Amino acid sequence: MGKILVIGSLNIDMVMKVDHMPTVGETILCDGMKLVAGGKGANQACAAGRLGTDVTMLGAIGNDSHGEMQRDSLQRSGVDVSGLITKERVSTGTAFITVNKEGNNSIVVVQGANAQFTPEDIEAHRDLLEECEIVILQLEIPMDTVLYAVKLARTLGKTVILDPAPVPEHFPEELYQYVDIIKPNESELSRLTGIADAQNHLEEAVQIVKDHGVKNVLVTLGGDGVYLDTENEPPVHIPAKKVEVVDTTAAGDSFTAALAAMLLEGKTLKEAAEFANQVSAIVVTREGAQDSIPTLQEVLTK
Ligand code: ATP
Repeated sequence: MGKILVIGSLNIDMVMKVDHMPTVGETILCDGMKLVAGGKGANQACAAGRLGTDVTMLGAIGNDSHGEMQRDSLQRSGVDVSGLITKERVSTGTAFITVNKEGNNSIVVVQGANAQFTPEDIEAHRDLLEECEIVILQLEIPMDTVLYAVKLARTLGKTVILDPAPVPEHFPEELYQYVDIIKPNESELSRLTGIADAQNHLEEAVQIVKDHGVKNVLVTLGGDGVYLDTENEPPVHIPAKKVEVVDTTAAGDSFTAALAAMLLEGKTLKEAAEFANQVSAIVVTREGAQDSIPTLQEVLTK
């Protein structure tokens, strides 16, 4: 059985529920704060681990209690943490999230150690890339690190899955050529292609991405499921499962991880997307990020 390597961000999310968002100069009080492990990279590694996949996380944390919290959380989900790099004199990435009564949030992210994750770090962990079959990346780490990693992965003949989130202001066109599978959501597809309402022009928008050289494009459509345009099968739309939605946090991250987990088992992209759809449908029925991700057993018995 092969291995997945997730290269990306690790954050601790500090979630505060407030009556209203503070305005400039205002101090407000709230009753408490929840500390949870997050960051797109860590979420994806955690999801793959819970699904029973052999997965390693490569990313940077600070030499602090939040870094240890991340390490523990990943280990509890069955993730190999031998690729966690501890950076000195910088904090672990931290997201300060305030959620108001209506459920809207506002977020400040301290990039911390994620911003100090360098191409040299990737090179120093070349063995982890050599050992895996599939590499998953997102865009919460420096772009030069992402580019170095995908180039190395391509040289080593690995399958590269890119979750292009968040889409930066200047998305480097050369990145596309090193990606085998790209998985934007609707708004990311809009930002990548310049088509404002990409969900209503899916074929056109996806074609733009394919014209850049990516052979497999999967667009997650929230409650509408996923649209696939892949190299071996005709384009297809897979509807989402009908479920009672509680919290969609980590829906996309668990989708990406579940997709990779199934590809590792030799499933086709369509089969893998059907399974990922099932996994994410469970995630959205539960509150939280990593806490909401099911185990393989839970998916199979649902
Ligand atoms: P996030 O940023 O919240 O992690 P995302 O925006 O990257 O998510 P979405 O397109 O919202 O990703 O959702 C990913 C997948 O989760 C969908 O393709 C679908 O399988 C599942 N999903 C999301 N919302 C729902 C829903 N309302 N009902 C059922 N499944 C859903």
